[in-house]
Amino acid sequence: MWRSVLSVEHTVIEKIELETVKGEDVLVASVRPHWSRRGRCGRCGRRAAGYDTGGGPRRWRGMDAGTTRVYLQAPAPRVRCAEHGVTVAAVPWARHGSRFTTAFEDTCAWLACHTALSTLTVLLRVTWRSVAAIVTRVVAERAASVDRLAGLRRIGIDEISYRRGYRYLLCVVDHDTGRLVWAAKGRNADTLRRFFDLLGVQRAAGLTHVSADGAEWIHQVVAERAPQAVLCLDSFHVVAGGVRWCV
Ligand SMILES: [Zn+2]
Repeated sequence: MWRSVLSVEHTVIEKIELETVKGEDVLVASVRPHWSRRGRCGRCGRRAAGYDTGGGPRRWRGMDAGTTRVYLQAPAPRVRCAEHGVTVAAVPWARHGSRFTTAFEDTCAWLACHTALSTLTVLLRVTWRSVAAIVTRVVAERAASVDRLAGLRRIGIDEISYRRGYRYLLCVVDHDTGRLVWAAKGRNADTLRRFFDLLGVQRAAGLTHVSADGAEWIHQVVAERAPQAVLCLDSFHVVAGGVRWCV
């Protein structure tokens, strides 16, 4: 039952206690990884030899039980990974280097996408600094597991200026999902060729439509790398009646 309440897997729960911290009752669950998850590198998850007991027990903030704060507490031994050297062993309830459980971080990242930061920090009782670190970890994990360039069909290429127009970012968006899939500093043919190098010949052949502003160098690179794709002036510039809008 507690595994379900705490939203953890592959975790042994030894005891649950109510403790008073700074005048507030908190729930502390003493846990340890299931034997199949013990002795693994915190960075790659591969089995690694034990090194030492680390710096004593650690606590991870979990999802609140009602309005009561919840912490998971466990020893944090270190292991020696063949590739990553000495590192804190992986735990099944949290991401490496985090003081929050994975369930807490996933909830926090979802809220960061769907609500105001001020609402989120009050609701979850976290600082905006913690939110920033959590979102960074969750995005890094997703980015490693998702190939954002897979299955692209209709894309938009746009130049965005910053530093008052002295610097430019070249951005590629997926019109089907509305997501930014690639960005790099610069605004010339070579910058755009780097995108197509990463995309590869096969995936470039899957493109059906490319929208862009009227820049000649964009048209030239698209004609060179994805000749089958229909080039469209993006709606933004068409609506402007041919007048170049700065984003
Ligand atoms: Zn490792």
